[in-house]
Amino acid sequence: MVHEEYYKLLDPKFKYTRAFCTEDEIQMAETMRQFVNKEIMPHRQDLEGGWHRDEELAVETQHELYAKLVDLGVTKSNLPETYGGLGLSPVVRQMVNEELSRGDIGLATMVGKIHWIVSFMLAAKRDDLLKEFAPRIVGDQSYTACVAITEPAGGANLEDPAQEFRTIRTIAKEDGGDWVINGHKIWPGPSGPLERFQSKHMEGHLGYWTVCTTDPSLGPEGVALIHIPPDAKGMEFSKPYEKMGFCWSDDNVDIYLDNVRVPKRYRIDTEPGQGAHIVKAYVIGLGRLAGAARLTGLSQAALEIVLNSAKHREIVGQPMRERSLFANHLAEMFRYIELARQYYLSVTWQVMHPEIYGAHWTPEMIAKYSAARSFAADCAKFVCNLGMEMMGSYGYAYEFNLEKYMRDYKITQMWLGGAQRDRLDIAQGLFGPFKWGGFEAFEKTLEPSN
Ligand SMILES: Cc1cc2nc3c(=O)[nH]c(=O)nc-3n(C[C@H](O)[C@H](O)[C@H](O)COP(=O)(O)OP(=O)(O)OC[C@H]3O[C@@H](n4cnc5c(N)ncnc54)[C@H](O)[C@@H]3O)c2cc1C
Repeated sequence: MVHEEYYKLLDPKFKYTRAFCTEDEIQMAETMRQFVNKEIMPHRQDLEGGWHRDEELAVETQHELYAKLVDLGVTKSNLPETYGGLGLSPVVRQMVNEELSRGDIGLATMVGKIHWIVSFMLAAKRDDLLKEFAPRIVGDQSYTACVAITEPAGGANLEDPAQEFRTIRTIAKEDGGDWVINGHKIWPGPSGPLERFQSKHMEGHLGYWTVCTTDPSLGPEGVALIHIPPDAKGMEFSKPYEKMGFCWSDDNVDIYLDNVRVPKRYRIDTEPGQGAHIVKAYVIGLGRLAGAARLTGLSQAALEIVLNSAKHREIVGQPMRERSLFANHLAEMFRYIELARQYYLSVTWQVMHPEIYGAHWTPEMIAKYSAARSFAADCAKFVCNLGMEMMGSYGYAYEFNLEKYMRDYKITQMWLGGAQRDRLDIAQGLFGPFKWGGFEAFEKTLEPSN
């Protein structure tokens, strides 16, 4: 149903702006669009095991489609050519991200995990670590990876620049040639025992890029981003959370770190203050900007479903979409989607030009990433909600997929600090810095875990 009709305004060749990319780069987005139509659209329900949540079907579909994306080369797209990657520009990756999310935002997020961890190692110029991980990223086998940020005392707190990372309670202490890590991370995904990521289509897990502090009182200077191998001793996992969406694409569990010992070289940042910059810009900020592209692709998928439905659904003998009220609704949806797209592309282009816009971690750039994600999330909310009203009960039915997109957009809006944190970070960039009260009271409630 979704791709039964052609809409020029929604075609990669027409919707992506040549000011930001070349014809060849748009062709890559077109290739992903075709892959999605052929391989993902028919399996969207299988990706969560169908209405009855058949775990075996879900995991098999998930791993198989992910392996096909690895074959296409999508996971190695931001790894420079010197390491065997494709070295594609951030704008192309975002367009491909949008197209993939039109099919399934969970798969796009899985692919994004690899781009995410590569971006940290590139930002820290860790040639040694890039060489260590590259063979598994560019090889034929597929691997997933995880970034562990959120803690029991509040994910949004950790992402609040005014707290200057003093709320982090995952503590890394140097001991001989190692880092010894203690703490508790909640919700990171995909995570869990290594066997969960080993199947006929998947080889394994690259491990956990974990936000730690060497001492909370040091604030930004204490931040350490540390890689923990997937089978490290001292790491225990809870059962996966049962969730509204992202059922198996993001196996979310709690991780308990009890004297986990990793070699010193696995601390990604190498200079004072660099860990804080990487977490602000590459973990949180650019994570939000990637979310904006995904939410735009998801919104387009929802619009296509509603457009097609409104063509066939007649209201007193006339296609619904030709009646002025509903034509107006569809135009409104398009308006939001087009603006969300042009804005995230523009901000992504600005990321490629720090010589003009400044470092990636300035409050001004963080404000832009947050504006892109929050606007795209409002767009997705608007399109899914109004689209469902237009489709009536069919929109509410599992069979027509719109409700899937409605379930999936919500967490993409809420993670990495959420809608409220986005607004506060925009305000920080506009007229900050400002601090909240209450931090002293918070500090008294928590003692470092060692
Ligand atoms: C499917 C899924 C995937 C996830 N993936 C990951 C992952 O890969 N890695 C990871 O580390 N985590 C992950 N998370 C966790 C997620 O990022 C956090 O839940 C989220 O950032 C909010 O943190 P919290 O739940 O602790 O909410 P809280 O911090 O308790 O906040 C609740 C709400 O209050 C508001 N709020 C609270 N404090 C502040 C503040 N200081 N500033 C502004 N607003 C505030 C926010 O609106 C927030 O939404 C995932 C969660 C889900 C459901």
